Parts: sequence; structure tokens; C-alpha cells
Amino acid sequence: PKYVYDFTEGNKDLKDLLGGKGANLAEMTNLGLPVPPGFTITSEACRYYLDHETMPEGLDDEVGRYLEALEREMGKRLGQSDDPLLVSVRSGAKFSMPGMMETVLNIGLNDESVHGLAERSGNERFAWDSYRRLIQMFGKTVLDIDGDLFETAIDEAKAAKGVESDLDLEVDDFKDLVGTYKEIVRENAGREFPTDPREQMDLAIKAVFGSWNAERAILYRRQERIPADLGTAVNIVAMVFGNLGMDSGTGVAFTRDPASGQQGIYGDYLQNAQGEDVVAGIRSTVPLADLEQIDKKSYDELLQIMETLENHYRDLCDIEFTIESGKLWMLQTRVGKRTAAAAFRIATQLVDQELIDEDEAVRRVTGDQLAQLMFPRFGEIGDDVKKITEGMGASPGAAVGKAVFTSARAVELADDGEDVILLRRETSPDDLNGMIAARGILTSRGGKTSHAAVVARGMGKTCVCGAEELEIDVRARQATAPGVTIEEGDVISIDGTTGAVYLGEVAVVDSPVVQYFEGALSASDGDELVASVDRLMRHADSRRRLAVRANADNGDDAARARRFGAQGIGLCRTEHMFLGERRQYVEDLILAETRDDRNAALHALEPLQKQDFKEIFEAMDGLPVTIRLIDPPLHEFLPDLTDLTVRVATGDASSDDERLLEAVRRLHEQNPMLGLRGVRLGVVIPGLFGMQVRAIAEAAAEQKEAGREPHAEIMIPLVGAVQELEYIREEAEKVLADVGVEALIGTMIELPRAAMTAGQIAEAAEFFSFGTNDLTQTTWGFSRDDVESAFFGRYLELGIFGVSPFETLDVDGVGRLVRIAAEEGRATRPDLKLGICGEHGGDPDSVHFFHDVGLDYVSCSPFRIPVARLEAGRAAI
Ligand code: PEP
Ligand code: MG
Repeated sequence: PKYVYDFTEGNKDLKDLLGGKGANLAEMTNLGLPVPPGFTITSEACRYYLDHETMPEGLDDEVGRYLEALEREMGKRLGQSDDPLLVSVRSGAKFSMPGMMETVLNIGLNDESVHGLAERSGNERFAWDSYRRLIQMFGKTVLDIDGDLFETAIDEAKAAKGVESDLDLEVDDFKDLVGTYKEIVRENAGREFPTDPREQMDLAIKAVFGSWNAERAILYRRQERIPADLGTAVNIVAMVFGNLGMDSGTGVAFTRDPASGQQGIYGDYLQNAQGEDVVAGIRSTVPLADLEQIDKKSYDELLQIMETLENHYRDLCDIEFTIESGKLWMLQTRVGKRTAAAAFRIATQLVDQELIDEDEAVRRVTGDQLAQLMFPRFGEIGDDVKKITEGMGASPGAAVGKAVFTSARAVELADDGEDVILLRRETSPDDLNGMIAARGILTSRGGKTSHAAVVARGMGKTCVCGAEELEIDVRARQATAPGVTIEEGDVISIDGTTGAVYLGEVAVVDSPVVQYFEGALSASDGDELVASVDRLMRHADSRRRLAVRANADNGDDAARARRFGAQGIGLCRTEHMFLGERRQYVEDLILAETRDDRNAALHALEPLQKQDFKEIFEAMDGLPVTIRLIDPPLHEFLPDLTDLTVRVATGDASSDDERLLEAVRRLHEQNPMLGLRGVRLGVVIPGLFGMQVRAIAEAAAEQKEAGREPHAEIMIPLVGAVQELEYIREEAEKVLADVGVEALIGTMIELPRAAMTAGQIAEAAEFFSFGTNDLTQTTWGFSRDDVESAFFGRYLELGIFGVSPFETLDVDGVGRLVRIAAEEGRATRPDLKLGICGEHGGDPDSVHFFHDVGLDYVSCSPFRIPVARLEAGRAAI
């Protein structure tokens, strides 16, 4: 295969092969934008390298040919001693992973070419600074040397000279540093720093490939659900220098505000700086608008390019650029990450600008983004909290938690169940663990494009950055703002929209988007975000084929679900109605020794059940309500075996306790989830299901009498054989006839045997609802209550799966059963209604699958309903 592509050979659609960076550098090259020449080594080569621990055959020659072509174009050879070509070796995977993988700049410098560079640039200081940067980056990245050793050396050089900034170091200092750095390499890597330019480049390529499996990269992929086996491409790009003097610099820009979606000039610029200085948030940047004063020609050209890019990509783009002695170069672009609110706003703005149509707009927002917009906000600020300072609102949301100053501490406290806010001067990729553990992130340095901001936005985590009044002292575990000190453990609140930081806990309120779904706020009330959400939801609703129902067990939840757009109830779990005071009746039922005792217990339960159902039918007047008969093992309603045993053993027990203990022992099962539950309870305990069906039928009858329109659907759980269903059906039909009410009778499909015999089961079922929680459990043999904490972490880390199958449906296995059951069920009964009521009903990826297999509806918890509606619309477009 072809492993190397020149920038003139690629394009933006080749991200799988060239990674995002490579594909977009190629696209910009083809658009005629000023991109330094270069080429990309494919992610396929990376995958080969990671699998075989050696480079694929022929790659070396191919790279050599492309390097020669690059040298010809540039008119100089890599590392040529009198006028060296220097290159950067940059990672770039299909999905952007900000700062998680490696990059090495200034490849091609050695003891000779550094003189050539000095002469050609007329800037000796710059040449030696570049050389020491190479050894530093190369040492850390390629030779795995602790980066602090280099940092300490440069700090010592500054201290010895009595200066604070790198900018105050002079040529001789850098020459000395080069010597020191080489010494560090020698001592720690057991080899000399390689002087052969091609060797430098080859080693850097391998290191970038290897960085795909760096710990933080693995962690980031898990967090962002990026598949573990993609690998990264590598870009070899001719160096341009932002550190040649004050007429040089480097910056990042957005074509729109990634936080709000507003069009304008957004970005940061840093004069006389190289590459990663900006993103790392190490030195303070100036706003991009200031570039107009600094270098008007480059500024105008940049704006022109930004417009070209936005019209070409028809979307918000983010950009990295460098100015070398007054000449602008584009180093990267991509369709930019944005906040959830900006995604909705931008999509509708682009429709208004006629750059995209409404279908495309709906495709560009996601259910996950909508879910983020439904998170609560800060409400009124109470007297007991104090606003202590303000930074930039970098990633919206309202976060409250205990202040911590290191990622390790954040992880520790979060593991103990505490909410924490991570305070850092700036974050680095090594803080990823802490950022994941924290509720919110607060930094005292860096702009909207700093590492903390970019990563937090990607995660949808609240972040305030650049709160410059904060002095953070990691060692003392405290931070000070004018007049206040925050100690570790103090509760603070941060507002990711306004950037405000409070000492104390601020109460949270519903977001405007939730108020909109609740009907308390309308699209014409002047909130631009609400208007965007309204418009895109309407369009999604007009496009979707899947209906969306709610999992709800009481009238209140049902009513809210309906306001959120539910078209019925797909799962009412009746066992939730047996908790609290009603537990007593279930105990009575279990302990009943005679038929009379049992009937008495059932009689006591029936009116309570009936009342529950009446409330739900009222809330869902005119819409279908699927009620599932009792499912879990009955001993879940009894006291704990150990507690009882202790009570009885210590003579602390009543006579009831002794009978209970006996019952608990009798009902004890080794594998309760595979035991006496679901339909099996109905078969074994006479009258139990009959009582529930009667309560449903009478509730429906009474609501009908009251002028309402109840549509009951009675659902039998955990059926594995049509005979079980037939047995229950007969009992249920008798009760329905007795009360004189009609209802559909159907089953859940949550056992592989049910799926494989769906053709038979459909003889006795008017509908199927896939219980994908249990179906996942029983198909994989994974205990749904245990495995996530037991070993899924390791599985995800190894890439055995990309995401937990309990979160996103396993399409290949469980999905195949769903497909078979749907097809064979419908073959028996063409008008069989098909739905899904497991947790997957509110999961975006899974919703697309359920659309594809032709289900009639998905059912999910009330707060996921808008998400499911949107995703069902996207699936249909
Ligand atoms: C399921 O198994 O998917 C389901 C919806 O039922 P439960 O979660 O109550 O077992
Ligand atoms: Mg189930």
C-alpha cells in the first residue's frame, strides 16, 4: 500500500488515512492557502508499527522519496550544514486529541547546521534557542527522559543570571544549555543525542506512532469514546518560525466564538514564540484583534483566509498559524470543537446564511449536546456566598465542589464520592485524570484556547480559565484572591458561562432549555439558544419515523415526560410501586401460608395499584401506556439475610422476624437474576399477575367512565418460551373480559431464547418490547450489577470494547438478536408493535440502530426524551 501522501495529494475526506491534521493541511494546500510544504505518513503505517513493533516494508524508501521531493521544493537538504531544511514531526489522528500525543519541532539541527541556521537567519540567538528546544523535545518525547530535568536546567540558567523570562537569556546561555541538555541525554538515555538528521526524523516518527498508546492518550480516548485501534498519522512539515523576533509570532483563531457561536474575531496571539507556547498556556497571549496593530498585512490576510475556510467548510473552523518575519503561514485547521450552545446557534445561523439546509443543521447537533444544555444553571446568589473573582467562561455549566489543587487529590476525593473543583495555574495533558474526576476546572492562566479550555469543552465539563487575580500555591494547598483565601476542601462554585467564581455553594436552577421543554419558556421569548433548540427540535420531529415513549412509574414523571414530548409510556415498572409502606403487604404475600392469607394480601395491594395506574392513565390520556407486571425476585422486598440472622441469633427478633428469616432462606438463590423472577413469578404465585391485571383493567374502566381515553398495554417480562406467555395470557384475558376492558398483551424480549423463538412468541404477543438491559446481560453473560465496576475498566483500556455494552447497544451481538426477533416476530404477525425500553432507548448511537432495524418506538427516562427525539430525527435524515 501507499503509506505516504504529499500535501498536494490528499484532501479533507481522507481523515481515516491521513488523520484530521494531515487531511486538512492537504485541503488547505489545494485551496491555494499558504501552507508550508510537507507530507503525511498514514495511520495505516502506524497501525502496522504498533502491531508488529517494526515499520512496514518499503516505508523507509517511500519516506526517503518524499523527503527528497520536499528538499527539492525547498532548495535545501534536511540538516544541510550551511542552510538546513528543518522539519516538524507532528501527530494527527482521525479525531483530534488535543495535546495527548507528541510533536517534535526543529528536526535537522545539529552542531554544524545550527551555525548554518544562525548565518542564514542572521539571528544566532534564535538558532541556538531552536537547537536547545529540539534536544529538549526530542529527549522528552523520543528518548523518554523526564521533562523536568530540562526545565530545571533552564530554570537554573535563569537563576544564575538573575532573570525571570526565557526572553532574557542570550546566545551564550543557550549554547551552554545545549551542552547541559546533551549531558542530560547522555546520562539518562544511555546514548548520545543523534546528530544525523534522517535518524532524528525516523526516531521522531516512531515516537509519534508510539505516543498513540501513551497513558493519557488512552485515557482521553476512553473519555471521548474514540476507538483504541485507529492509530495516528504523522505529518512532516517544513518548519516556519514564529520565534525569529517581534515581527514573528504564533497564534490560534476561531472563525466564530466557540463558546457562544457569535461571528467575530476570536483567538490569541503570541509574539516571538514557537508552536506549542500558545496552546500550553505558558506565556500570556494578546487577543487576536491586537494583531491588527502589530502586523496589519498578516492580519488582513488571516481574516480573508478565515472567511474562505468558513465558506469552504460551511462551519466554524479553528486555525493555528505562524507569522515568520511578516509572512503568514497556516499550520492547521479543522472544524472546531464548540460548546453545546454554540453548536445549536451556529447550525441555525448557517441555515439563515443559506450555507446549509435544515436537514444538515439537525445532523450537526447531537443528543449529547442537547443533554448538556439540560444541565442546571446557577440561580440566585444567596447572602452566604461571596463572589471572589472572575475569569473567562471557557466551558459553560454550573459546578459546585470542594477546592483541590492537584489532579491526584481530585481523583482521591472524587473516589470517596466528593464533588471537587480542580484549581490549577494551567492544566497540562497530565491533568487529564483530575479533569475527568472534577466537577469543574478553574485556572488562573491561559485563554479560551488553553489546554484546560479546549479539553473541558470537549468533555462538556464546566471550566473557568484565566482568573488572573487568583494566586495558586500548590504546596500550601491554597489559593488567594484579593481579600480571601481558599483552602483545600473549601466549597466553591464556578460559572462556566459568566466566568464568575464564588466562595460557598450557589444553588442551581433549571436551564432555559429545560424550562422550554417544560413549557415555561417559549421560542419567542427572546432567548436565542431556546429559539435555535426549538427550530431544530421541530425539524427533527418532522423527520423522525421512530416514536418516543417514556419509562415512568408514576403520574408526575408521566406528566413531565409528556411535556418533554413523550408519545406514551413504554415501560411502567410496577415493582417500584411496592416500596415504602407497601413493602409490608408484599411481606404478607410472601409469608402467606394459606390461600386466604394470600388473597388477603393481594386484596390489600389491589386498590393501591389501581390508584397508581389511574394517575398514569390520566397523565397519558389518549396515549398508549405499557405496564409491565412485576419482575424482580421477591426476596428483594424482604429484609437482608445477614441482618435477620444477626437479629435472630442475638435474641433481638420478633416472631415475625423468625418467620421472615425462614422465608428469606427459602427464597435465597445463588443467581437471583436468573432465578424466580418475571413471568416465572406469575406462573408460580397464583393470583399475583391476576391482581395486577385487574388493577390495570379497573383503573382503565374508571378513567373511561370519567371521559378519558386510556390505552393499556400489558407487558410480561422475562419470557423465554411461548408456553409461558400463553399461560399468563389466558389468566389475563379472563380478568380483562371480567372487567370488560380491552388491552393489548405483549412481552418483553430480554432472553436470547425469546429472540431466537420470536416467531413462535409472536403468536401470543401483540407487541414486543426489547429489554436490552437484560438482553445484554443474558447474551454476554455479564451481571449488569457487577461487571462495570469489576472489570469493564480493563476491557475499555485494552479496546476489547470501545464503550460499555450496557451504555451503547452491542450491535454485532445483542443487535443481531434484536434484528432476528424483529424480523421473525413480524413474519408471524405483520402488525406486531415493536419497541425498546432498556437504557439504550436514550442512547444516541443506539437510537440510530433501532431506527435502522425498523422498530416503532424507543422508550427512555423522561430527561432523555428530547435527546431521543433529536437522535431519531437525525437517524431519519
Ligand atoms: C431491561 O431489561 O432492559 C428492562 C427494561 O427491564 P429492567 O431494566 O427493569 O430489567
Ligand atoms: Mg429486564
